[in-house]
Amino acid sequence: MADIEDITENDCCGNGCANCVLDVQVKTKKICDKTGKTNILLQYTPFRLFQNKPHSTYNDNVWEFHFKSVCAESVETPNEAVSNYILDMNPGYHLMLRAPQRQQQENEENFENYVEFKMKRYLLRPYSPYWWDLQKMEFKILVNLKCNGPMSDILRNLQIDNEMEFRGPIGKFEYTADNKGDNILMIINQGVAVAPALPIIKCIIQNEEDLTRIVHLSCFENVENIYFRQEIYDFQKFWNYKAHIYLAHEVCEECAKSSSLCSPDCKNFKRKLKYKESIHPVRLDENELEKIINTLKNELPHMQVVLAGTRKFQQYFKNMLSGELFGIKDNNIYLL
Ligand SMILES: Cc1cc2nc3c(=O)[nH]c(=O)nc-3n(C[C@H](O)[C@H](O)[C@H](O)COP(=O)(O)OP(=O)(O)OC[C@H]3O[C@@H](n4cnc5c(N)ncnc54)[C@H](O)[C@@H]3O)c2cc1C
Repeated sequence: MADIEDITENDCCGNGCANCVLDVQVKTKKICDKTGKTNILLQYTPFRLFQNKPHSTYNDNVWEFHFKSVCAESVETPNEAVSNYILDMNPGYHLMLRAPQRQQQENEENFENYVEFKMKRYLLRPYSPYWWDLQKMEFKILVNLKCNGPMSDILRNLQIDNEMEFRGPIGKFEYTADNKGDNILMIINQGVAVAPALPIIKCIIQNEEDLTRIVHLSCFENVENIYFRQEIYDFQKFWNYKAHIYLAHEVCEECAKSSSLCSPDCKNFKRKLKYKESIHPVRLDENELEKIINTLKNELPHMQVVLAGTRKFQQYFKNMLSGELFGIKDNNIYLL
């Protein structure tokens, strides 16, 4: 394996990530755990597509991608690879995926375009794993394949065994387990950005000594597009986890006839809910958030908030939460 590369401006994807690779300290420590193994992700490393499938039968644009490290599968040096490396990821962090840009002719007539192409030879986009296996060096991402999006087009056409390069982990979310039971972690996410929330939640509820209470608010379009609905439902078995789901565009056939959204009393909407599933056919706004926060009023000084979604979504909730009404300190609000 090559030495760890320095991070330069070419490593920035230009998407305006809250935790840009240039601003946060990517873990560059080579020996990353007590066993003395090296994190395979520290430089761009090839991963092979092992499996991909639509996340649900309702939406053909949201896919799960399962990648395996080529190094872990190496036929020539399997023992060396498996014994020297691990895949060390942090809950709430993301990976950078890079793919070569479309080839251009060396004798490109427009020299300026060619120079720009040479500078940006790779297309870069961040993705947040929702599952990984440290030893087997595998991970899974959930991707909303955008129409005419350059990386979406590449991922849409990816075949089993094709290779893609990933690097990371990138992020800033620092979390300490709470063994006194004082702390509350509120997670607010939107659409596929529920993915980085899952490992954070698992990390807390699977640690019996961590008494942090989680309040998880997820925003989706409608019931059919609630991603990881079963996982969210199953987490509720844990005493310290409570989920609320908000749907901004829930419309049943009946309500569609009168061009209206389903109300909380709509029978067709209610029929879609499982036992004790807290799903609201409304947009999560200041009023809805206030209802939740009112139940936690005395605990606000011990509350940390994680926001995952588009830049606009994160800023909307950050401004609201740090404003006069809720007064949560800026340094208790983390943008993933
Ligand atoms: C920290 C972080 C983590 C992320 N994690 C995930 C994840 O786990 N899963 C996931 O699905 N996504 C994730 N994303 C988003 C992801 O990185 C990509 O932005 C997304 O997959 C789309 O990439 P793309 O290249 O296909 O399209 P993009 O080029 O990013 O464009 C997206 C859409 O906008 C349109 N568009 C682009 N430019 C313009 C323009 N100038 N005017 C009008 N429309 C335009 C495109 O046609 C396309 O439909 C994450 C983003 C961040 C910042």
